[in-house]
Amino acid sequence: MNTQGHGVINVAALGAITGPDLWLPILGGALLPDIPIFIFYAWTKGVEKIPDRTIWQEAYYRPFWQAAVAVGHSIPLAGAIAITGQIIGEPVLIWLGISAILHSLEDLPVHNHDAHRHFFPISNYRFISPFSYWDPRHYGRWVSLAEWGLVLIASAVLWSNMSSWAGRLVLILINSSYGFAIFYSRNLWRNCTESNCSQPQSSESNSSVEVGKSKASSKV
Ligand SMILES: [Zn+2]
Repeated sequence: MNTQGHGVINVAALGAITGPDLWLPILGGALLPDIPIFIFYAWTKGVEKIPDRTIWQEAYYRPFWQAAVAVGHSIPLAGAIAITGQIIGEPVLIWLGISAILHSLEDLPVHNHDAHRHFFPISNYRFISPFSYWDPRHYGRWVSLAEWGLVLIASAVLWSNMSSWAGRLVLILINSSYGFAIFYSRNLWRNCTESNCSQPQSSESNSSVEVGKSKASSKV
């Protein structure tokens, strides 16, 4: 799922339980799992100056970056943060951890060959979903529209509970970004088709796969 979508959906859903006082740690927990991916992109794009296609098809599958992404998307590690918060009586840590877990649960059904290792470090298992939040070979167009629909509903919920116009402007920008995200996915797909870079889907359809094996195009 797109990072900004996690932010809006988690704050709307979990914020309805906690109230606005804990919106910030919930937002932090929603963004935290994808931070290694932003660092990866900044490094490969800004420092190594690798073209976008190579970034998502090759550099993303380097073991170091795969490990960093697995740490961010680990349900056991996020659970440890929440449990630590519970033990020391710190709601900020509890809701940061819970929101990071929810982020992983939102990613789980919409990642195909780019699936994360959500049970790292206990297991390297990756659930290869038949659905993708961006890849048109796996219903990406429909899933991205469904995601946008959920974000719109969550935005409407937050809008009515929000007095700040700065916050409302952020919601407008996030919803606008979905048009760009969908266009960008289609662009990636077109590049992939032109170079005939589709990967062997059949060998990866139902089970965990070795990290680094896939060469297909990807994005966060
Ligand atoms: Zn994620």
